[in-house]
Amino acid sequence: MDRANIVIIGGGVVGCALARAASAKWKDVFLLEQMPKLGMGASSRNSGVIHSGLYYTPGSLKASLCVRGNKLTYEFCAAHGVPHRNTGKLVVATSREQEPRLAELIQRGRTNGVEGLRLIDAAAIRAREPHIAGTAAIEVPSTGIVASEDLVKAYARIAVEQGADIVTHAKVEKIDAKGGLVRVTSSAGEIETRCLVNSAGLFADEVAALMASEMARHRIYPVRGEYCEIVRARSDLVRGLVYPLPHPEGLSLGVHLTKTLWDTVLVGPTAHYIADKNDYESNPPPVEDFVRMARPMLPEIRAEDLMPAYTGIRAKLAPPGSHHPTDFIIERDPQFPNVMQLIGMESPALTSAGAIAEHVMGFLSDILN
Ligand SMILES: Cc1cc2nc3c(=O)[nH]c(=O)nc-3n(C[C@H](O)[C@H](O)[C@H](O)COP(=O)(O)OP(=O)(O)OC[C@H]3O[C@@H](n4cnc5c(N)ncnc54)[C@H](O)[C@@H]3O)c2cc1C
Repeated sequence: MDRANIVIIGGGVVGCALARAASAKWKDVFLLEQMPKLGMGASSRNSGVIHSGLYYTPGSLKASLCVRGNKLTYEFCAAHGVPHRNTGKLVVATSREQEPRLAELIQRGRTNGVEGLRLIDAAAIRAREPHIAGTAAIEVPSTGIVASEDLVKAYARIAVEQGADIVTHAKVEKIDAKGGLVRVTSSAGEIETRCLVNSAGLFADEVAALMASEMARHRIYPVRGEYCEIVRARSDLVRGLVYPLPHPEGLSLGVHLTKTLWDTVLVGPTAHYIADKNDYESNPPPVEDFVRMARPMLPEIRAEDLMPAYTGIRAKLAPPGSHHPTDFIIERDPQFPNVMQLIGMESPALTSAGAIAEHVMGFLSDILN
């Protein structure tokens, strides 16, 4: 049986960022991923946006880890050749009635420490985005885009160079955390570890349940998001990143327009609860729904401009009907003090991954030293 200092369950962006940070300090770091490749969950099925930290409740982990993660992501991508671009973005009000919400949002962003935010008028919107209709907008200079799969691979590559063992096809099926060491059984074998990190994304509640942790009460509700892509001949309709005001019920940031690193334009993601965490396909919305959602910002959009692209599934902690904002749960398990539980790692965890890793390293130092 292998002996580890740290076992990380989950090879998404968060697990891989943590494997990189942990393997810089400790030997015998293992990462177990159930799929044949890393990053096949939410970490490669997202908008690829490096968020600024504008939206989140002041004082929350999402706010602080996003602002810090934004800076760390740019630094990491520049240092390790991960494709990215600091595009900036617009959050657009499409009517005068919406404008007070822009003012509230800008205030919240400043409280969170987001720099360079400013309000612009309709003429300035048109100068920047000639096809976008808006009465006013917030200009957010620190937002950008990143090739999310390359980001996952780069974190993992460095972890391996530093000596970490990354094991794919390793679905964790049993965890015994009752003794001094945690025994982890996966489809790839058994490991005993001094410290375990649950970074299983959408399945983090189920992994917590495997060790009969009380933290499994934090149930994850899957919320699917579908994307369409604007056909190439019309991709000049959008130059950068254009967002509406966030969904009033807090379910998502709203269907936005994202110019990718490959100069295509994504329209999405939608947001609706689904019953099955593995259901990426059933009942996709018609393209007309995307036209309806995008048209207030992009009046020239037509159904024939759009083709279905891909879907992702969010790890939501809020049950259907709840409109309360939720935060990342990053805690040392009260029953099993050598286990770290990371639950509800929805957006902006792609942006925040480097900062989440830094934050978790503090707990790991306490556990291992
Ligand atoms: C539609 C959509 C758009 C988004 N857009 C953005 C954005 O623009 N910017 C941003 O910052 N964030 C965005 N996000 C959020 C971001 O993608 C996620 O928060 C982030 O990828 C979560 O990373 P993770 O490593 O926690 O989870 P995941 O990527 O889901 O990784 C978890 C891994 O754990 C593995 N696993 C699960 N159970 C087991 C087990 N029992 N044994 C072994 N392995 C297991 C899974 O296979 C998976 O690979 C978006 C998310 C979605 C769905």
